[in-house]
Amino acid sequence: MTLRFALFSSLLVGCQSTPPAREIDGQAALRYARTQVEFGPRIPGTDGHRRMAAWLDSLLRARADSVVVQAWTHVAKSGDSLPLRNFVARFNPAATRRLLFLAHWDTRPMADADTGANAKLPVPGANDGASGVAVLLAMADALAAKPPAIGVDLLFVDGEDYGIFSEEVDVLLGSRHFAANPIGPKPDFAVLLDMVGAANSVFRKEGFSITAAPGVVDLVWETAGRLGHGNLFRAETGISVTDDHIPLQKAGIRAINVIAEFGQGYSFPYWHTVGDTIDKLSAETMAAVGDVMMAVIREGRRVR
Ligand SMILES: [Zn+2]
Repeated sequence: MTLRFALFSSLLVGCQSTPPAREIDGQAALRYARTQVEFGPRIPGTDGHRRMAAWLDSLLRARADSVVVQAWTHVAKSGDSLPLRNFVARFNPAATRRLLFLAHWDTRPMADADTGANAKLPVPGANDGASGVAVLLAMADALAAKPPAIGVDLLFVDGEDYGIFSEEVDVLLGSRHFAANPIGPKPDFAVLLDMVGAANSVFRKEGFSITAAPGVVDLVWETAGRLGHGNLFRAETGISVTDDHIPLQKAGIRAINVIAEFGQGYSFPYWHTVGDTIDKLSAETMAAVGDVMMAVIREGRRVR
């Protein structure tokens, strides 16, 4: 793998504009996703959630310059007390110019977009949960191998998917907590990765991202096009999604969402169903998404 990449980049020496190196190991990302799914559902308060937290904590401490854990308790509408935890893996923590990348690591307690008895079962969360974490972990590998010139924070938020989105109850809990308790200087911008692992994914420009941070959207999609991933990152306006970028936007951060369009008739029809399983994921998709993010980091271009 390393040799092939080395040969590939040497062939490009002499071209007038050398594309950024491909740094992400897609097979490693797929393994990271598989491990998460094998913990079982990562629902706050369950054993799978506890085991996942311990695994994530140990992987981040082996890779990042420093790790900050935010632990708190959220009392849900049901009266249940949820033990929640955000993890922030910091690279080049002294740098004042920083980028933030985030994904949620919890999974949804009920597959309420499914039918019949399935709707009461938990979501396996291969794409909705594990994929974003897996890409961030593969980015952590690349950042550990070659430290970034600017500061990078990888934020793993908890409690995104616990409750009811239409009522905004018991959802986006980790991103709300982080927005109220930020760590370090405000990032230049933030990119949320949600459902970024499925084969044949389509990422159109998400509506709330275009409104709040159009320059960041353009930078990410332009970078993807230059890397040859215009088939994944379509330069078109897509749907608008209430997701973890919204609390960050409300806190004054230019935050955007890279998310596969989901639901029946879209590129990820298994959203919030029991069909969100590991076989739907693609090492190529996750490598492409991670490579785009790494190019954004390495090139360090500023957004007005
Ligand atoms: Zn979800």
